[in-house]
This record gives sequence, C-alpha cells and structure tokens, in this order.
Amino acid sequence: MTDTAASNAPAPKSTPHVKDNAIIRFEGVTKRFGKMVAVDNVTLDVREGEFFALLGPSGCGKTTLLRMLAGFETPSEGRVLIDGKDIAGLPPNKRPVNMVFQSYAVFPHMKVADNVGYGLKMDGVAPDEIKRRVDEALELVKLSGLGDRMPDQLSGGQRQRVALARALVKRPRVLLLDEPLSALDAKLRDQMRSELTSLQEKVGITFMMVTHDQDEALAIATRCAVMNRGVLAQVATPADLYEFPNSRFVADFVGSVNMFEGVLEKDETNHAQVRCAELSAPVYLDHGVTGAKGATVWVALRPEKIEMHKRAEGAALIKMEDAPAGANVVPGVIRDIVYLGSETNYEVELEGGRRVKTFRSNLTRYDQEDFTWDEPVWLAWHACSPAVLLS
Ligand code: ATP
Repeated sequence: MTDTAASNAPAPKSTPHVKDNAIIRFEGVTKRFGKMVAVDNVTLDVREGEFFALLGPSGCGKTTLLRMLAGFETPSEGRVLIDGKDIAGLPPNKRPVNMVFQSYAVFPHMKVADNVGYGLKMDGVAPDEIKRRVDEALELVKLSGLGDRMPDQLSGGQRQRVALARALVKRPRVLLLDEPLSALDAKLRDQMRSELTSLQEKVGITFMMVTHDQDEALAIATRCAVMNRGVLAQVATPADLYEFPNSRFVADFVGSVNMFEGVLEKDETNHAQVRCAELSAPVYLDHGVTGAKGATVWVALRPEKIEMHKRAEGAALIKMEDAPAGANVVPGVIRDIVYLGSETNYEVELEGGRRVKTFRSNLTRYDQEDFTWDEPVWLAWHACSPAVLLS
C-alpha cells in the first residue's frame, strides 16, 4: 500500500475474531489439466477467522483452487496445508472443511431439518444431539420454526440458508463458498451479503468464498485475492485493492476506472508527473512512483474522484486560466448522462476525442449545479487521486 496516497476508504474494521495463525496455506500450488495450467504456482496464507474472497474473471482458476482445498482435485505440484498439516492424503469427507455450492444443493425430498441434519446422521451422531444442533444451526441462519417445511416451500434465499445451515452444523474449521449468492436476485443478494458477514463473525469460522462479482467480494471479505490466468495478481483488503491496485488488471477488474497510458516525466519523493497523450495537461501527483523516469506507466483514475465544473466558453475557446483551482484540470464536453438515482454517471469527451467517465453523487443534488448534454466542462482531480501503475 502506498501510504502517501489518500484513500476514501474507512479505517479498517476491528476484527478480533481474526487470529494471526495461517489456518490455510497453499505452498507453490500448481494444477494442470493436460497442457492447460489452471492454477500456476500459488502461494497464499489465509488466517484463522478471516472471510477471504477469491476474486477473478471466469476461467482464472479460483474454483480449482477451492476444489483442491476441499479435496475434489489434487495439486500437480505444491502442498495444501490446514492448521500446518499437509492434507494431501485426506479424502474430502475427512477434511475439516465443508463446501456450499451455488446451486443450493439441498435434497428436494427431505424436510429442512432432515436436510440440515443429514451429515450428522451419516456420522452416527445421536438423534437428541442432532435435533439440538439442527435447531441451533437453523436459528443461526434465521430459519427457526421452518424445520418441517419441504425445500420447495421455501424461497431461493431461504433454500440457500438451508445449504449454509447444513454446512455449518458439522462445525467445520473452514467453510468454502462457491459463488454462494449468484443464484439470488439483486435485492436478496444485497441482504444476504450483510447476513453472511454477521453470520461469519458470529460463528468465528474461517470462510473462503469464490466469486467473480467484485462488488460482492468488496462488500463481504476481510481480504481478497485477485486471480488472473491461474496466478495471484494481488492479495489485499477490499479498500486497498480499490484504492491501491498494483496493476492495470486489478485496477480494471475491481471497480470502474479511467486508464491513461503515459510517460513518467518526473519522479521525486513527494511529487511525480506523467505526460499522457490523451490528456491536454500533465498529470501531477503528490507522491512518488518509484518507477524509472522515462518509463511507460498507466494512470488509473476512479470516476468518482473526478470533479466536474461548468466552463464558460464554448468547446472551441479553452482558456486554462479560467479553470478551477486544483492540481489537475482538463477541459471537455459532456456527451452522455445516465441518471441512476443515488448517483449520475457522465461521459465527457476530451479535446483529442478520449471519453472519460465521471460519477457524481446525488446526495446534495438540490444544491448542486445541473449539467446537460453537450455542455463544456472542466474535469478536475486531486494530485492524490490517481494510482500510477507500472504494469
Ligand atoms: P468460473 O468463474 O467460470 O467458475 P474459475 O475461475 O472458477 O471460473 P476454474 O473453474 O478454476 O475457473 O477453471 C480454470 C481453468 O481450468 C478453466 O480454463 C477451465 O476450463 C479449466 N478446467 C477446470 N476444471 C477442469 C477439468 N476438470 N478438466 C479440464 N479443464 C478444467
């Protein structure tokens, strides 16, 4: 993390349930399917009590990594450890992990309580103990009193909770979640996100979730690993991934971004400057980049960090001295506006034709300037806002 750059992120949440020990460790793990390398030399520690998300585009290897932990796939190289022990010889049912799949995977012909208690029954747990633990698990997932229902008498969200209760009832050391919310509609997904977080904090079990949905990972996880083509691109907290991405891939994959290719003209401790062909003025930064002067770099600028101001002249009459105060200012013309309720998204065309996205919150819309199509504007951003990426 670049501590000189500013962040809009809140201070990290206190997580006393997260311990220092690595409950899960992948050590140089590679998985090949024939000639295809699905997971490429991954080394990763997940701490006990974390809600860890594996995030990445389709086919990047995240499910394969999770399946190696669950015992459904065997690494071609490297080791997977739980609590410091190599689990290579353990079949899936002997591993201290349980997996919740995206397709709910509840038995349709069994009552909710029997679904939840199924694994305990198979393990030979006494009926009284099964009942007690099933009731406890149903209460945890807010399904108390629904134990006698059949799965087809439940909503999608409730069925997903049955699957969760069934995994939790066995008290695994680690709960694996494969796209757990992808089958739910948007509103329910939002609700289940916060429920999953509080459930995880309550039970204190380490959760490891696979998702391709960056909003979901940012909202839920204490830490995320972003994967690209089998390799770990970055491992960080959600806020650090968003504010301080380490590469173009991560900046682009996590959130919306305006990316400009440029040349690093100055690079000092508290100041750097990048010249970008698509921007009429250099990009000034209030922090160093530690890249070689003259190197090709990429300036990543989040749309909500760009302010928009009215520009008096027509698009053809640009006078920089009329620009609002601020380190970085470029002129443009609004070409598109999308009103989204809580915010409005604008697309502004710069002098050379490059279009830039900027988002404005509608929080104080009543006292904000209104903008319209084809209006000349200044785009301005603070010197701490852009991330400068070397690759
Ligand atoms: P998605 O989000 O689409 O599930 P993912 O990131 O989870 O994708 P994986 O399912 O881990 O990706 O797959 C990684 C790569 O390995 C893909 O190219 C996939 O086609 C390939 N792959 C996965 N399982 C097998 C298999 N059993 N045999 C051959 N190739 C496989």
